[in-house]
Amino acid sequence: VRRAPHLPALLAHARDTTPDLPYLVFEGVEPITFGRAYELVAVYARVLAGHGVGKGDRVAVAAPNTLEHVLAYWATVSLGAVLVGLNGWWTGREMDFGLALTEPVLLLGHGEPGLRAEATPWMRASGTAALLLKDLHGEALAVPSGAALPEPGIAEDDPAAIMFTSGTTGLPKGATISHRNFVFFSQHGALGGAATALLDGARYRQVPPDVQRASLVVSPLFHVSGAGITLTSAPASGLKLVFPGAGRWDAERTLRLTHEHGVTQWSGVPTHYWRILAHPDFASFRTGQVTMAGSGGAVFPPELMRHIQETMPGVQLGNGYGMTETLGSGTLLTGLMLERHPGSVGAAVPTVRVQIRAEDGTPLPEGEVGEIHIKGPGVFLGYWRDPEATADVLDGERWYRTGDYGRLDGDLLYLESRIRDLILRGGENIYPIEIEYRLVEHPDIREAAVIGVPDKVLGQEVKAFVVLEEGRTLTADGVRAFARETLAPFKVPAHVEFRDALPYTETGKVLKRVLEEEHAAAG
Ligand code: ATP
Ligand code: MG
Repeated sequence: VRRAPHLPALLAHARDTTPDLPYLVFEGVEPITFGRAYELVAVYARVLAGHGVGKGDRVAVAAPNTLEHVLAYWATVSLGAVLVGLNGWWTGREMDFGLALTEPVLLLGHGEPGLRAEATPWMRASGTAALLLKDLHGEALAVPSGAALPEPGIAEDDPAAIMFTSGTTGLPKGATISHRNFVFFSQHGALGGAATALLDGARYRQVPPDVQRASLVVSPLFHVSGAGITLTSAPASGLKLVFPGAGRWDAERTLRLTHEHGVTQWSGVPTHYWRILAHPDFASFRTGQVTMAGSGGAVFPPELMRHIQETMPGVQLGNGYGMTETLGSGTLLTGLMLERHPGSVGAAVPTVRVQIRAEDGTPLPEGEVGEIHIKGPGVFLGYWRDPEATADVLDGERWYRTGDYGRLDGDLLYLESRIRDLILRGGENIYPIEIEYRLVEHPDIREAAVIGVPDKVLGQEVKAFVVLEEGRTLTADGVRAFARETLAPFKVPAHVEFRDALPYTETGKVLKRVLEEEHAAAG
C-alpha cells in the first residue's frame, strides 16, 4: 500500500509506478489507465481553474457514477478545492439545502432529468454557474494534454470533500472530510485484509499473482465507500474498478459485469447480496474468481454470511462498521474472527480506537452497553459550518460520538442498535438487531426490519416488517413462534407485517423512520 500526504500525490504516485495498469472501466469506453487518468485530471483541473475554481472553493456535483464524475472529483481535489457530493437522487428541495449550506462556486451536473445542472432557488439567487459534466469533458479534450497536476500546496488537514450522511435518522449532515481522512481510507481496508491473509490466508480463495485485482463499484461516489475505493484504494493498490454506469443497482448487471471483467472482489450492502444469491441465473455467471465480498454501513446478518459462504465457498467475507463522519473507518470483521463471531462487527482497524461510554461521557467497563465512540485518523474535521453540531459529537480529544449503542467483548465490538432505534417496552430495553438476526434465520424469510411502535400500556411494542423468499407463505403466528424459540418473550414481535420490499436509503440502510410513519398513517 502506498503512502501519500494528500489525494493528488496518490494519483501522481500511481501514474509514476503503474501508468499502463487499467484503473477505470466503464461499459463501451476503452479502459482508462492510471497514466491516462492523470493526464485527463490535469486538463480537467485547468478547465475548472478557468471557470474560477481555486483552493478552498467548493465545487458541487450532482451526478451518477460516470467517468466524467470521477475525473471532475479528482480535478477538484487536485486544485485544493472542496468537492460537495450531492446525492444524485435528491429532489429540488434537498438539493437546494445542500447548495445553500456549502455555497459552491460551480455546480456540475448530469444530463438526465432530475440530475441536470439546473438552477435551484439558491442557484438563481446566488447567480452560481452550472456546467454539464459532458461539456466540461468537451472543454477538457480541447486542452493540449501533457500538463502536470497543479500544485496548490495542500496540507493533510485541508478539507477535500463535504459528504452528506445517509439521512437515515433525519436531515443529512454535511461532513467535512480531509485529505488525511481519505488517505487513511486506503490503509485501513488494506491493513485489515492483509492481516487476515497473513493469519488464515490458506482458508480462502486467492487472486493469482499475475492477475490484477478488480472491484465492482456499486456505491455512489457521493458516499464514503464509493469515493473511498475510487480515490484511494484503487490508486494505492493498483486496483481496477468496474463501474456499472448510471441507473439503479441491478443483480443481473452485477453478475454479468463480474463475469465479463473478471471481477475479483465485491463490495455491496446486505440487500445486494440477498438479491445476487437469489438470482435465478446465478450459476450461469462466472463468479469463481471472486475472492472477497465486503459489506459495510448496514446490518449484515450472520444468516446472510452463512448463505454466501455456502454458495461461494472460500470467499473471504468482510463486514465493516463505520460512518460518514469517520470516512468509513471503525471496526472490521473478517477471516476466522468472522467465522467464530459472526454476530459482532469485529475489532478496531489498526490505529483506530473504540470506547463505550455512558450518557455522561464516562467510559464503561467491558460488557456493558453504551454509546460507541471512535478516535483515529479517519475522524472528520466537523460538520460544514455547524460548530454546534460538531461540538455535540466531537470532544476536546477528538473522540467521535457515533449515536450507536454497542458493547465490547475483549477486542470485539457488538453493535446493539442506533440510539434512535432502541425500543423501550415496559421497563425493558430492546435492541432490534438481535430480533432481525433471528427472523432472517427462518428459511422462508429473506429480509426483516424491527421497529418500536406506540403502545398504550407498554409505551412501545415490537413490530416486525418481513419480506418472504419468493413463492413462500408464512403467517404472523408462524413468525412469532419462530422468534419465541430463541428470544425472550418480551422481544417477540407483537405486530408482524408482510411486505414485498423494505424501504432502503441509497446506501443500503432500512429507512425505519419511513416504516414508523407508515405504521402511524395506517392507524
Ligand atoms: P444519518 O447520520 O444522516 O442519520 P447514517 O448514520 O445512516 O445517516 P452513514 O454515515 O452512511 O449515515 O451511516 C453510518 C451508520 O450506519 C452508523 O452510525 C451505523 O448506525 C450504521 N452502520 C454502519 N456500519 C454498520 C454495520 N457494519 N452494521 C450495522 N450498521 C452499520
Ligand atoms: Mg449517522
